[in-house]
Amino acid sequence: MSDQQTAPPVRAYGGDGTWASTEVRPYKEDGTIFKAVTRQNLFDTPELACQWRYFEVGPGGHSTLERHEHVHAVMVVRGEGRVLVGDAIYPLELHDLVYIPSLTWHQFRAGDDEPLGFLCLVNHERDRPQLPDAEALTHLREDEEIGAFIRC
Ligand code: MN
Repeated sequence: MSDQQTAPPVRAYGGDGTWASTEVRPYKEDGTIFKAVTRQNLFDTPELACQWRYFEVGPGGHSTLERHEHVHAVMVVRGEGRVLVGDAIYPLELHDLVYIPSLTWHQFRAGDDEPLGFLCLVNHERDRPQLPDAEALTHLREDEEIGAFIRC
């Protein structure tokens, strides 16, 4: 059951990366290849073809290094950090927009002293993330900056 279906029409922002009547969940139920990440399903209803989620990466934390056929549309709404998209690393600041194309390696990292909170829009029906195998990791690490950035 999504939070949104049982929640009132308006859920007030708590000022700290949370909303009223919206459960703060584990990032991934089965994942271990991430650090200090929480997830809130803001909008998740059959009437929409998408899900709108909020993820928060705690200071020093990171999301999973992954790729998949579906795309992500992201807006940073708290803190700052960096993101790997394909073959480049980008700094992230408040209200920056990020588009993760299909089958593109990506990983979000918060700074050491601040969380990185972002809204993330995805198709409701989507493929499962793929993790890098040894060959993919070797290829990613051919770029020295990427090799130093990624966590897996
Ligand atoms: Mn992803």
